[in-house]
Amino acid sequence: MDKMRFSRVLIKLSGEALAGEQQFGIEPQAIGQFCKEIAEVAASGVQIALVIGGGNIFRGLSASAKGMDRAQADYMGMLATVMNALAVQDALENHGCQTRVMTAFDMKEVAEPYIRRRAVRHLEKGRVVICAAGTGNPYFTTDSAAALRALELKCEAILKATKVDGVYDKDPVKFDDAVKYDKVTFIEVLEKRLGVMDSTAISMARDNDLPIIVFNLFKEGNMLKVTGGENIGTIVQG
Ligand code: UDP
Repeated sequence: MDKMRFSRVLIKLSGEALAGEQQFGIEPQAIGQFCKEIAEVAASGVQIALVIGGGNIFRGLSASAKGMDRAQADYMGMLATVMNALAVQDALENHGCQTRVMTAFDMKEVAEPYIRRRAVRHLEKGRVVICAAGTGNPYFTTDSAAALRALELKCEAILKATKVDGVYDKDPVKFDDAVKYDKVTFIEVLEKRLGVMDSTAISMARDNDLPIIVFNLFKEGNMLKVTGGENIGTIVQG
């Protein structure tokens, strides 16, 4: 994997990446920064599928803990991811990038339905495919959607964008002595509960030999480096 430029990747962005300083909702300036880099990577010829979370707007699990029906709340969470997808589409297009939003359930006045073969065609034409509405099913997360779409679209890796530099043995925001892993196995991630992605996504990636690279979204230039095969962040494989 060293210094191998990827030809097709799936980038997983959490909803919080869109919220900027305000920690909630959508902050257009915050989106503009990383979308500029995604547009540059796309222009360099790397095919990009994007899966975006919705946690900056609504999380099904949190709402169900406060009494809402879980499935009902999860559908609201999936709708939140569509709002985020449209915001990212707008920002990418401001940087001259061709995009398509494809939703896991029909919203055809707003975006295309997700059809795998069409998504592949868009990728081949150099369009960034933004996969919205998660898997289309409650009780899943956008991490699982990322693993699913990465596999069916034959991406070479999931690039999991975070606000820290990779995977640590404990939370680096809370602990000064947290140690970063350069490489870690799927089993270690599951056994040590390293919080890379949820366990459904990790299991799918492991069962299908799909590497996950965890990297810092907020360091300028990282997007180009990670897609160019530079060893930044932490690689989860094996
Ligand atoms: N969700 C869902 N099924 C999916 C993907 C997402 O029900 O396949 C819902 C779920 O309620 C979740 C919300 O959408 O809490 C937002 O997604 P997620 O929590 O994964 O977003 P992130 O944490 O990445 O911002």
